[in-house]
Amino acid sequence: MGLTRDFFIMLSENQTLNAAAKKYGLTLGANKVVAGVDIPSTIEAIKELNRKGITATVDNLGEFVFSKEEATKAKEEIIAMIKAIDNAGVKAHMSIKLTQIGLDVDKEFCYENVREILMAAYQHGNMHINMDTEDYNHTVQTFEILDRLKGEFKNVGTVIQAYLFRATDEIEKYKDVRLRLVKGAYKESPEVAYQTKEDIDENYIKLIEQRLLSAKAMTSIATHDHNIINHVKKFINQHNLNKDLIEFQMLYGFRTELQEEIAKQGYQFCVYVPFGQDWYGYFVRRLAERPQNLQLVTKSIFTPQVNKNIAIGAGAVAAISAIALLAKRK
Ligand SMILES: Cc1cc2nc3c(=O)[nH]c(=O)nc-3n(C[C@H](O)[C@H](O)[C@H](O)COP(=O)(O)OP(=O)(O)OC[C@H]3O[C@@H](n4cnc5c(N)ncnc54)[C@H](O)[C@@H]3O)c2cc1C
Repeated sequence: MGLTRDFFIMLSENQTLNAAAKKYGLTLGANKVVAGVDIPSTIEAIKELNRKGITATVDNLGEFVFSKEEATKAKEEIIAMIKAIDNAGVKAHMSIKLTQIGLDVDKEFCYENVREILMAAYQHGNMHINMDTEDYNHTVQTFEILDRLKGEFKNVGTVIQAYLFRATDEIEKYKDVRLRLVKGAYKESPEVAYQTKEDIDENYIKLIEQRLLSAKAMTSIATHDHNIINHVKKFINQHNLNKDLIEFQMLYGFRTELQEEIAKQGYQFCVYVPFGQDWYGYFVRRLAERPQNLQLVTKSIFTPQVNKNIAIGAGAVAAISAIALLAKRK
């Protein structure tokens, strides 16, 4: 975890840059990392994935929500997408971030919003809703909300971040709940989280094995790390595990050939499909994980159909990463 990662994480939390990105109307990843800017274009992207035997978990992009109006609007957009998925008959469910639907406004208000989303999802094909986990403070609250909801709803699940010390207990506690297992995308303190890549990878493998041997519900292994994926495949075979309860997940636009290869090998595969205008925080967190992801943008600058705004946005991100790389050299 070098300075580059920390620096990009800091940038991803910068509200001014986020607002600027939105103001320019940038959809720089429209053809790469963001599946669509609206519901119809996103449904088309999901159909394309489905044709390849891949399902989708759809995320309505949006961060820094501090008013009830914005949170209510986000909730309505999520419910509109749930209905669209059901109407289109595509194989997809939704991922939501609780900060987008009011966690920073009022926890009770947020809880009611999640309930409403779960009810709508239940009415539309008993669709699964995954509550993404965010930074530590919000993650703790996400689990508190899960604890209140999991008795009432079976279509709710969440994400375990392997860098957190508390993850081992969570795997044990949520055997019956559908879970996504990830390494973790935020900057956390040494009091609560492993800090080195080696420690995080080691704990990630340990947690995956613990979960796969004990789970009574679906497990999603969400990583682009081929070493981990190969390890998991071997583990599944060694222990003759039921593949119906296991899937791999990756982000839209990342390692697409590998995604298709894994799906062709007979494993369930689900792609995380972000859509909307508010791409900034999502994309800069991807740079924090892997600065080479900048290639996704710089390549798109040179495609003829890319518009001027996209180029400006890509330039901004390029400038940001240049600063980060200089900072790293220091
Ligand atoms: C579907 C999905 C959902 C997620 N949801 C959450 C969430 O709710 N909360 C949260 O905190 N985090 C979430 N994350 C992010 C996650 O925590 C990690 O930060 C992110 O996935 C990066 O770690 P990694 O496991 O993919 O591999 P990394 O540790 O980033 O990479 C390991 C190795 O894999 C290879 N590799 C990785 N990416 C590429 C690439 N694009 N091309 C070629 N090789 C590559 C490289 O060899 C690299 O060294 C999610 C990730 C995914 C995929």
